[in-house]
Amino acid sequence: MTHLTLQSITKRFNTTYAVDHVDLTVPDGKLVCFLGPSGCGKTTLMRIIAGLETATAGTVTFAGRDLTQVPANRRDFGMVFQSLALFPHMTVAENVAYPLRLRRVDRGAQSRRVTELLEMIQLPHMAQRKVTQLSGGQRQRVAIARAIASSPKLLLLDEPLSALDAKLREAMQVEIRLLQQRLGITTIMVTHDQREAMTMADEIVVMEKGRIAQVGKPLDIYRDPVNEFVADFIGLGNILPVTFDRGQVGLPGGQSIAVNSAMRAPDAPDDIRLLIRPEDVCVRPATANPGQNTLPGKVTFVRDVGASIEATIDCEGFTLTAATTPRETPDLRVGMRVLAELPAHACKLIAARTAH
Ligand code: ATP
Repeated sequence: MTHLTLQSITKRFNTTYAVDHVDLTVPDGKLVCFLGPSGCGKTTLMRIIAGLETATAGTVTFAGRDLTQVPANRRDFGMVFQSLALFPHMTVAENVAYPLRLRRVDRGAQSRRVTELLEMIQLPHMAQRKVTQLSGGQRQRVAIARAIASSPKLLLLDEPLSALDAKLREAMQVEIRLLQQRLGITTIMVTHDQREAMTMADEIVVMEKGRIAQVGKPLDIYRDPVNEFVADFIGLGNILPVTFDRGQVGLPGGQSIAVNSAMRAPDAPDDIRLLIRPEDVCVRPATANPGQNTLPGKVTFVRDVGASIEATIDCEGFTLTAATTPRETPDLRVGMRVLAELPAHACKLIAARTAH
């Protein structure tokens, strides 16, 4: 098995714990994203896996082999790091061939592999161009081709798309994902963009202050975040301070709603938050029959974002964001009185963000 295992990895810079006792297994053939705000330790953890940084404590094992003391150039991982830029004085083909040359692969095999890789990244006609004559997206693709040239078992990508504009970035997300799946190559990617992680990853590792806050499939983390930090970082959400007593949730405006009777409150009863995603809030005209968990409110902001309409609703004591469609709620306007329904099945109680 070629999975990567991190055991109690810790990295301290003076008194700062950049990475703090991280345990993780990256499954074979999967794409895993390290996701978290700036300074949470993503890059440091990635550099430790790459061998570019030495951990203060802990072990890195790959395919059953302890790599903790093995230098970067002996790990045989493919890497796309911003610090490992393409060689500007070389052509595209020379850049892609570089790792093969280092490994003394014979010239014929080098040339065949380069042709194959340039076809894979859809730049076969650019082999003889200098990399300085390429667009940002083309350069990123060449960097990826170079990283996979020697068929590494593990591919490490540190914010590989950060320099690209939004449209190209999305196209490249799809390309990298397709390539990764086609080659079945175990890949770790660092990003601070939650949408990017959601669209690309098999598993997301959410990091906070050097620690892992949660590991899981994108949708599981979105639907079932372990706490307020994760809920807030992944997707848009209404997060309200609430009280909880026997299935009844007390909202900030004094209103009360019911949640699933099986729901358990997080441990600290004074620090509970209610999470409901905007797409789960149902908006109805004020004249509709108020059902269970409906709250009267007034629309204070409406934004048409193409596929959906985003509305802010003042519910006397707090505001809710709702994502709806013109079909569901025609004619939604600022100033309109509405009923906002918070369906019990979509409400989740989570622990508040810890005070720092
Ligand atoms: P970003 O998204 O901004 O790149 P990150 O999540 O990748 O952030 P790291 O670069 O891993 O975070 O940094 C984690 C912490 O370690 C930060 O507090 C950072 O200031 C600190 N740190 C990183 N490298 C060093 C270093 N060489 N010397 C001292 N402190 C460092």
